[in-house]
Amino acid sequence: MTSRPAPPGNPGLLDQPDPPGQAAQATPGQPGPILRRPQRVFAGYVLDLDGTVYLGDELLPGAADTVARIRLAGSRVLFLTNNPLRSAASYAGRLAALGLEAAESEVLTPLSVLTAYLAATHPGRRVLTVAEPLVDHTLRAAGIPVTTEPSAAGVVVVSFDRTFDYGKLLRAFLAVRLHGAAIVATNPDPFCPGPDGGLPDCAAMLAAVQACTGARAEAVLGKPGRQMAEQVRRRLGVPPGEAVMAGDRLLTDVAMSRELGMTSVLVLSGATSAAEVERSAVRPDYLIDNIGQLLPSQPEHGSAT
Ligand SMILES: [Mg+2]
Repeated sequence: MTSRPAPPGNPGLLDQPDPPGQAAQATPGQPGPILRRPQRVFAGYVLDLDGTVYLGDELLPGAADTVARIRLAGSRVLFLTNNPLRSAASYAGRLAALGLEAAESEVLTPLSVLTAYLAATHPGRRVLTVAEPLVDHTLRAAGIPVTTEPSAAGVVVVSFDRTFDYGKLLRAFLAVRLHGAAIVATNPDPFCPGPDGGLPDCAAMLAAVQACTGARAEAVLGKPGRQMAEQVRRRLGVPPGEAVMAGDRLLTDVAMSRELGMTSVLVLSGATSAAEVERSAVRPDYLIDNIGQLLPSQPEHGSAT
């Protein structure tokens, strides 16, 4: 037998897939999932960004190599974030600046889910936003009419808004309470983690709008919601049983991989500690230190002869 270099192919695709969900049935209090990495290469990879691919302004260990190996294997990759403050193009640019080339079409944010949701569910209705200017720009670019007039609004979109103020809350209140507008939120996150303690996120603005109107959001987009799951399924384009979702949070990333029927991988490089996994009823199929362990180990050069 000739010596084999590190495989650029996709050898694991011929293996039997691991049944997703096996580790999720572990009972809390029982010994938790052992730290272990997937032993095969899958046809598709959904990768959370913050805490999984990068943290702050740096790629996490192994991120660039892992994505390069996924591409070499001919597998699909999709980057996923719940943060609505940047466009997909902006995230692709940020990844490239950090040393990881990604196409805009490979990044899914809550704003892509938002435009698809509004076009399908509220075609032609005017939207009043509690959001930063990017949301208004994104809606207009998608042909969705935006208004600041409460009586004209059919939908109030609430997002992560660092410019949130009483005037915005009042307009949203009037649109919902007096004019019956529906409420749609971009993402469910209470806060966005950051080096200085983080920032209040969409759930805080949504709580304010819900508190004064007594109404509830008809949809909260982003992970782990079904609208984003649907977009992931469509964008990735591989059967869920052939796909992995890797992320750093149990209640968004692992929960959504369950919703999608994908194999779940939790990385310990972000928001979740091994002790939290031990205590949780939501368990990933695989638990790894960081994204550098997402693929099977490469045979060491020179040892295979
Ligand atoms: Mg994350």
